[in-house]
Amino acid sequence: MTREKSPCDGCDARCCRYFALQIDTPRTKADFDDIRWYLAHEGTRVFVEGGKWFLEVANPCRHLDGNHRCRIYPDRPRICREHDPARCERTDLEFAHEREFRNDEELVRYVAWRWRGRRKKAKRKRK
Ligand code: SF4
Ligand code: SF4
Repeated sequence: MTREKSPCDGCDARCCRYFALQIDTPRTKADFDDIRWYLAHEGTRVFVEGGKWFLEVANPCRHLDGNHRCRIYPDRPRICREHDPARCERTDLEFAHEREFRNDEELVRYVAWRWRGRRKKAKRKRK
């Protein structure tokens, strides 16, 4: 009997090599400075999806084997079970984040741009 083709065939299990957690939406300079600290660490990324902010940490799952397979597949956690291979970072061509920061320097540039925009707006209001 031949096995049905899976969208995961040939993938190096990208989805098992990081985890991402939602974080509070930054509003103040101090909030952004906290995120700058996350991004100062190797292997981190911050992205925005659906208006929500997430911190991603590149760290492979300890249950991934050398052939990119899950060692505990029948007993994998709920998050893994609910992950849709048809809508993942490898298979979905439209998989893109609204915004992403790969290091603290990118965030610092964004904050400078954002606050410049605010200052201009405030000046226009005062006129
Ligand atoms: S869900 Fe996507 S990223 Fe994960 S193993 Fe399958 S194809 Fe690869
Ligand atoms: S438990 Fe299995 S499916 Fe879930 S992240 Fe780890 S290796 Fe991947």
